[in-house]
Amino acid sequence: LAMGVSPPGGGATALCDVMKGKSPNGLFEHKFSEKWSEILPVTYSHVASKNRFLYVNEQLHRMPSGPSGLLRTAPPFSRPLEDETIHSFVSRRLGGELADIAIDSLCRGVFAGDCRKLSVRSCFPVLYNAEQRRGSIILGMLLGSGIHFCGRSVTESWAQWSLIRGLQSLPESLTEFLQRSGRVQLHSEAAVTKIRPSETGWKIDLEDGVVSADHIISALPAKALSSALPPSCQPIIKQLQDISTVTVAVVNLEYEGSILPVTGFGHLVPSSEDRGLLGVVYDSVPFPEHNRPEGHTTRLTVMMGGAWFQEVFGDPESVTEDDLLARATEGVQKHLGVTSAPSWSRVVLQRDCIPQYYLGHFQRVESIRSFIKKNNLPLSLIGSSYDGVSVNDVIFGGRNAAEELLGSVV
Ligand SMILES: Cc1cc2nc3c(=O)[nH]c(=O)nc-3n(C[C@H](O)[C@H](O)[C@H](O)COP(=O)(O)OP(=O)(O)OC[C@H]3O[C@@H](n4cnc5c(N)ncnc54)[C@H](O)[C@@H]3O)c2cc1C
Repeated sequence: LAMGVSPPGGGATALCDVMKGKSPNGLFEHKFSEKWSEILPVTYSHVASKNRFLYVNEQLHRMPSGPSGLLRTAPPFSRPLEDETIHSFVSRRLGGELADIAIDSLCRGVFAGDCRKLSVRSCFPVLYNAEQRRGSIILGMLLGSGIHFCGRSVTESWAQWSLIRGLQSLPESLTEFLQRSGRVQLHSEAAVTKIRPSETGWKIDLEDGVVSADHIISALPAKALSSALPPSCQPIIKQLQDISTVTVAVVNLEYEGSILPVTGFGHLVPSSEDRGLLGVVYDSVPFPEHNRPEGHTTRLTVMMGGAWFQEVFGDPESVTEDDLLARATEGVQKHLGVTSAPSWSRVVLQRDCIPQYYLGHFQRVESIRSFIKKNNLPLSLIGSSYDGVSVNDVIFGGRNAAEELLGSVV
């Protein structure tokens, strides 16, 4: 996992602050200072930031590295008042070809979703707002160059980051630190089954007990929250259920030696080329630190399915790991000319893992939050179901929710 593209914007700066230890009561200070030193930055001048590819007409094509190569403003320059799909927005501003290939691929890479259904207002609010203000849109933001870190990341010109022990080490370290602090009660691997109103706030039924809370900051996926909420929240239960998600098959492959015909971050595949295979990340290029210490191998991640999962692979419950592995290696063979078999592989089916911000998402989230406010419910909604699907976005949302409750954490 590499943090880089941050579509809804803003999240990265907050993440930076959090990583530097600006948190309530200094709770995370020590550990996050350590985390800061574990960051693996990838600068803009790195080949993995400069070279991103598209697989079109059965060939790899290097994507233009900045807005100048892509901005072809097409008339009429008109602004719709309502929400609009990303495909329609880009076609109107920049032309159909760009929307069909680059934007189609980008949305598959970021949302595993269909740009003909996704909302520009919710997925790329920076672009939507720029147009509403009659400013110009900078497509570079869409293509992964729009991240706004602060401090060291700005001076060192980071385009992406990961952590030395992998992203998993972030929640692991948080858990470890919280456990040691003695100030929290942690319940892990214990699903929330019901949330009930109580005199002082809420009672939360978990698989392993009951917790009382005066305020809930829920990071549950919207559907999971909808099944737990009490009947008094009926007006928002349906709206939460209506936030769709897609399933993605993630296939990690390792090959002996250097097998890539090009070096770069990876390549995306537009839906017109191959509906099932979304893209391939060349993990060894941006993060060689994660390679095996001995032996020389190349690591790739193939992402498949998303909005096209059912159509291409059928019911996620019936698809086999062998089928997914075969499909991924076939793609690598076709796109990258790799004829050898992988020396190691892992297939993970991530069910309902990425929320899809379809047209109307913004209004739906606004209406859910206004119900919460109107009814004075001690409940904050964070997580990828609402305000952005990237890790940076969800950290930003969590920080904002904490600030709203406790005052500024800066
Ligand atoms: C294949 C893939 C690749 C990605 N790559 C990137 C990337 O490179 N960069 C990036 O920024 N983002 C990436 N993302 C997005 C990133 O994973 C999300 O931003 C992030 O995981 C969202 O965090 P979250 O906590 O909102 O949701 P999740 O990570 O989905 O966590 C939700 C949690 O809620 C738990 N849960 C569900 N129901 C209940 C219940 N009833 N009770 C208790 N717990 C429950 C689930 O078990 C899960 O642990 C990727 C996503 C996928 C699927």
